[in-house]
Amino acid sequence: MHKDLEFLREIQTLDQRLKELDSEIASLPRRIATLETALVTHRQTVERIKSEQITLAAERRKTELSVQDFRAKVSKSRGHSSEVKTNQEYRAVMDEVAFAEAEISKCEERLLQLMENGEAQDGALARAQEALAAEQAQVDAARASLEARTTADRAERDRVNATREALRVQVGSDVLRRYERVSKLRGQGLAPIDLEACGSCRVRLRPQMLQEILARPHEIFVCESCGRLLFLPPQSSEASLTVDAQTARS
Ligand SMILES: [Zn+2]
Repeated sequence: MHKDLEFLREIQTLDQRLKELDSEIASLPRRIATLETALVTHRQTVERIKSEQITLAAERRKTELSVQDFRAKVSKSRGHSSEVKTNQEYRAVMDEVAFAEAEISKCEERLLQLMENGEAQDGALARAQEALAAEQAQVDAARASLEARTTADRAERDRVNATREALRVQVGSDVLRRYERVSKLRGQGLAPIDLEACGSCRVRLRPQMLQEILARPHEIFVCESCGRLLFLPPQSSEASLTVDAQTARS
């Protein structure tokens, strides 16, 4: 095999690794965003309970004010009761007192209910905050591990690039240019010869070209269809390819 092809095969392996590393590095923000979606439901639950607490506190204040109002009415009516002249007036005042006291008692029942609801809300909020904190801790750990992975990826990318650079300078400039041009266009610049065809685009090689490749193993041949540089994989037997080439000719 041409020496340049041997270098290029190593370069192509490194290029593949660089692509994997770049794609993993680029996926970091998306993966962190995915992790954080797990927090959304927990945050919503905490916010919902807090907003319910505000509503409940407002109703509690309003009910307490009603109790104050009705108490004021009771004491005012009781004050009037000494001034009334007739039994009828007296009964009217006593009815007012009885009505206000019944309202006070309703309000107090409601206040007890609200207090119980408030305690239940406090418990629910504590549990929701605990669940959020636990999820947050998991997200933080997963994010830290993703970030550590990215740091390791960047370091590996630097090492791979350095190795790649050292190999590049050993390849002839025309061959390197072609490899890089085709790589950019088609993802890979090299293709193995496989069953008498280009292993990448699968177009069959002309029998004459196969013969030339076998006759001049140290030259560089290019797939006439996709432009990739062709190489004979070391594990493939040249003898069987010769037979195949002869079959193709006959
Ligand atoms: Zn091809």
